[in-house]
Amino acid sequence: MYIQDINLSSLFVAEPGELYQSKINLNQWIEVLVDCPGSTDLYTYKLPEQLEIKPGDILTVPFGSQQVGAIAIRFLSQLPENLTPEQIREVEDVVSKSFFPSSYWQLLNRIAAYYYTPLIKVIRVALPPGLLGRSQRRLRLTPLGKNQDVSSNTAVFMSPTAQQVIQLLQKTPSGDYSYYYIQQKIKSAYRGTRELIRLGLAENYLEPPKINQPKLQKAVTLLDNNEEDLTPRQKEIIEVLKRQGGELWQTELLQTCSTSTSTLKALEKKGYVVIEEREKLRREQNPSVAGDQAKSLTAAQSQALETIKTLNQFTQVLLHGVTGSGKTEVYLQAIAPLLNQGQSALVLVPEIGLTPQLTDRFRARFGNKVQVYHSALADGERYDTWRQMFTGEPQVVIGTRSAIFAPLPNLGIIILDEEHDSSFKQDAPIPTYHARTVAQWRAELENCPLILGSATPSLESWVSVRNPETPPPSPLPASDEGGQEHIYISLPERINSKPLPPVEIVDMRHELKAGNRSIFSRSLQTALEELKANKQQGILFIHRRGHSTFVSCRSCGYVLECPNCDVSLAYHHVEAGAAELLRCHYCNYGRSHPPHCPECSSPYLKFFGSGTQRVSQELNRQFPHLKLIRFDSDTTRNKGAHRNLITKFANGEADLLVGTQMLTKGLDLPQVTLVGVVAADGLLHLSDYRANERTFQTLTQVAGRAGRGEDPGRVIIQTYTPEHPVIEAVKTHDYQSFCDAELAEREALNYPPFGRLILLRLSSLDPIQVQNTAQIIATNFSEQTGFEILGPAPASILRVANRYRWQILLKFAPDALPNLPDWGEIRALCPASVSLTIDVDPINIM
Ligand code: ADP
Ligand code: ZN
Ligand code: ZN
Repeated sequence: MYIQDINLSSLFVAEPGELYQSKINLNQWIEVLVDCPGSTDLYTYKLPEQLEIKPGDILTVPFGSQQVGAIAIRFLSQLPENLTPEQIREVEDVVSKSFFPSSYWQLLNRIAAYYYTPLIKVIRVALPPGLLGRSQRRLRLTPLGKNQDVSSNTAVFMSPTAQQVIQLLQKTPSGDYSYYYIQQKIKSAYRGTRELIRLGLAENYLEPPKINQPKLQKAVTLLDNNEEDLTPRQKEIIEVLKRQGGELWQTELLQTCSTSTSTLKALEKKGYVVIEEREKLRREQNPSVAGDQAKSLTAAQSQALETIKTLNQFTQVLLHGVTGSGKTEVYLQAIAPLLNQGQSALVLVPEIGLTPQLTDRFRARFGNKVQVYHSALADGERYDTWRQMFTGEPQVVIGTRSAIFAPLPNLGIIILDEEHDSSFKQDAPIPTYHARTVAQWRAELENCPLILGSATPSLESWVSVRNPETPPPSPLPASDEGGQEHIYISLPERINSKPLPPVEIVDMRHELKAGNRSIFSRSLQTALEELKANKQQGILFIHRRGHSTFVSCRSCGYVLECPNCDVSLAYHHVEAGAAELLRCHYCNYGRSHPPHCPECSSPYLKFFGSGTQRVSQELNRQFPHLKLIRFDSDTTRNKGAHRNLITKFANGEADLLVGTQMLTKGLDLPQVTLVGVVAADGLLHLSDYRANERTFQTLTQVAGRAGRGEDPGRVIIQTYTPEHPVIEAVKTHDYQSFCDAELAEREALNYPPFGRLILLRLSSLDPIQVQNTAQIIATNFSEQTGFEILGPAPASILRVANRYRWQILLKFAPDALPNLPDWGEIRALCPASVSLTIDVDPINIM
């Protein structure tokens, strides 16, 4: 907390009796976030002596000529240099104490420090827009205020404005109005409100969040009775009800029987039916909701669950379960008892594409206790979900990256599903946070367990459990709590001991030699033909990633690499008509695109990259009878598109799902037997030190979509480098040996999870200026020690939206973060036309 950062020595010059006074003066100022559209700064206010204010409180402050809501963010012991005490106004009042727990602000401050981001920008990421909407802050009369007869001479003396305000309030039966309304009605109302509060006649409060009321409507329910005294008309109605299972909405019944409400009322009077408001009819309760109960766990699942259940403080658990091993069931059963104890759970998933399926499973288990939160929600929805969290009701929040900021009080567990997924990392804008890192801090601050689940754990998480005696540099700034624990839990088998699908690797060089110029190998072609015949479904995975492609020989598989860096050179698409250029992203080595393969002189030296569109066309040409659904960012742009496409596919409306990365994420479609990977090489040769890890993860995950149902699955991976160790490891489902090899390489080169990286991304409309600035900054760094500087180099797509982009990579030794540069000074080196983003622990270095 900020209080602790303050130099205490100034305190003890006090004369006896003055210590108390000094204490108050220790924090004279507070920075607040004001609720004002477009306000992008924190504002400083003076702390009034009579008020006790803490970060996280909701305040009212004077702002311009108004009085507005504000969140107390942090204390200042000194005024910023450009301000004098005379310019500073006082906080008006506290509306709501501890609206946010103080641990929440600790979290945001930690993010600001670690990611070199101004606190206000962190807050903007964390809080939904309009959180403090003006209508929420309200003023209400106290009992004393209600009984105050302003016109009588025994009334308390008050100013004319105060009289106006109290009279306005007294006109409403509830005696309260929003500040916004009062300010609209009465000029300079805030003086008056202040006075009333001081006199104890009125008080501030924050309107509690509105819980979404379920929609109620009238339902007619049949009661057991002998039908003696019924008219024929009434008998008819009873018959209709019987046929409908004894229950119907009143409106439907009226329509079906062309009758009136009075007829129904008469029936009710006679005791044949009841008419009452209902949220839903009993008979129409969603069968999946009613039907879904905790499954009886496999031995491995029970063991995992038991371990997790015993954790009652911060512990990081790596739940390493192969695809289809039932991790989700473990999450569900770990959460259930927490909800019963009044605690909440936070579940993060990589992408919205997989959320519908997962959310359905959570909803089926926990009903309306489940809330979905992600940035694709409309502002209003986002905001409502937030307010819902403040109720403190035990609930499960499922969301993407930004949901890590969900302000759930009483958090009992945090779960990151598919923790290896790179969409948990924000590349830009700042803060360039990783939800896993933030989750670690949050779980630590809330003292609750953190479960990281994956079939292909990130090397970071793997290392943290594999070498407990020599942990990698913790992303946590030194924590004084100690006792930080890491637990490894394995689910090594699929449910019911279903085998993992066999993986066939097809050498595409042989295909070419055999005269097959199609992008589909003979093996894949046969498998595709068989799909329809066997009434089965398949998934075709295509790697596609912008223009960043590698160059490889189609005859011998040779890949052009950087002589200095051990990464493949990237093909640069600068502009149409310009010379084709190959470049290294790390050291800026560059060369032209050679006409022939340097290895075998073949002219088939090509850059790789084929998108879903092109593959779909090819499929339509070669397999016109196969029905396709394209599943990529083009076809899933609209709201609900993911769900629609997957539902269509699950209903058997297509034979093949053709798509990109999104396919790899947690789809549980039992009918899928075939998984094809069109070209694994596109992944493998990305010019990035993480290329191997990402390839292994992606291929293993996509392979894991096959054979989850009754029919056994099979996987066909096409590649020009079948001998690559990563391909070998995918073929044998051997995570361990992949990790051992990859970690050895990373360690030798000081790459994460051993060393650390910070990437500076510069961009500008001016190509010369950005290049020069990058050079100046790099030169400036070269005087500092403790890290290596790679670059400056142009980003792989040099120009995006007319901005030219350069980058500098800083590589730190594993054991420490010495001599961190002064970012203020670095930023000062950037002219206004050049923008600088500091990406801490970057994942995408391109
Ligand atoms: P993962 O998340 O590890 O890929 P899932 O949780 O999706 O695995 O489980 C795979 C399938 O097995 C799902 O269809 C799930 O409903 C089912 N399943 C999970 N646990 C059990 C169990 N104990 N008994 C029967 N079926 C289970
Ligand atoms: Zn060659
Ligand atoms: Zn290089």
